[in-house]
Amino acid sequence: MTEKTFYRDSWANIHLNHIAFNIQQLKQRLSPDTNIYAVVKANAYGHGDIEVAKTALEAGAPRLAVAILDEAIRLRDAGITVPILVMGWIRPEDVWIAAERDITVTFFQKQWLEQVKKMDFSKPLTLHMKWDTGMGRIGIREEAELIEVLHNLNDDRFKLEGIFTHFATADEAEIAYYKEQQTRFNQLFACFQAHWTKPVILHTGNSAASMRFPEEMKHFVRFGISMYGLYPSKVAKAEEPIKLKPAMSLHSRLIHVKKVPAQTAISYGATYKTDKEEWIGTVPLGYADGIIRKLQGMDVLVNGQRMPIVGRVCMDQFMVKLDQSYPIGTLVTIIGSQSGNAIEMDEIADYLDTISYEVACTISARVPRLYRE
Ligand SMILES: *Cc1c(COP(=O)(O)O)cnc(C)c1O
Repeated sequence: MTEKTFYRDSWANIHLNHIAFNIQQLKQRLSPDTNIYAVVKANAYGHGDIEVAKTALEAGAPRLAVAILDEAIRLRDAGITVPILVMGWIRPEDVWIAAERDITVTFFQKQWLEQVKKMDFSKPLTLHMKWDTGMGRIGIREEAELIEVLHNLNDDRFKLEGIFTHFATADEAEIAYYKEQQTRFNQLFACFQAHWTKPVILHTGNSAASMRFPEEMKHFVRFGISMYGLYPSKVAKAEEPIKLKPAMSLHSRLIHVKKVPAQTAISYGATYKTDKEEWIGTVPLGYADGIIRKLQGMDVLVNGQRMPIVGRVCMDQFMVKLDQSYPIGTLVTIIGSQSGNAIEMDEIADYLDTISYEVACTISARVPRLYRE
């Protein structure tokens, strides 16, 4: 007998060829002068950082972006040598490892530069400057602040390579605020150019901006959610500026099937009681896997048909109301399609009153990812 990599009957399929397809679609939409940062933060939105990173690089995205330093180090440890940008804040005392591992870091504070200058590191530190043009999260907001920060870049170890900003509403139908952010970026850039002569690369757009306003994108875009085959919003989905193929599907199997009489309670709290005689199936996935308790009542696919989750979702299992008896081992699809019927991640996001980003990130590390080409 050979050992398997996992022994449970629940798994996520990750279609790496769909990730490559989605990158191709965006490339065709963008100007040839605009390149792609593949955003692989949060374990590639739950899809698997290293596998997705390698696929994205092969598919023609020359650089990677993550949220935190640890994510960049993981990619370096996996032997990935392309430029990696950490888009969030890092502690000044940690810059030595960023320099050591050739990881590009983001800055936007004078105080941060002052502290970093005192640190002991010798390799050059590649920097991207973040501008807050309206997101209100991190970044330089004012021209005076920008000028002060530029004066503090006087250290031979610093290499200012890029400047970026992030849009708050690029996925919405109303584009006035998005336009204001563009204007603010251009104003700050004019100020920057009056004080800095060396070339820099600029990147502003996320998935929404890059697919909806390709002609307004700069040297790079930061392509996250749509690389995984999901639209950033309903508006973007309806407009469909590019075709996308979802990369993740989630499956399990029935591990128990029983016929119960009317008035039988199912799961914790006995919140569900059968009306009449019913077939109930048990599925070995629960909230520890990311099937959160609020999914009670949501449909899953069994035998190509929709069947509802009944009773409370447990940590490791949930129950489903079946239309008839099915054999143990019958495929249950939570996200994805079965015989022509589909449950998209967006439908689950709607049910939970959230966005697909959150659903993808919530599928926990306990669910094995199977990589398909
Ligand atoms: C996550 C993130 C992105 C990617 O956004 P998507 O909407 O997933 O494309 C881009 N830029 C920054 C700064 C981010 O944090």
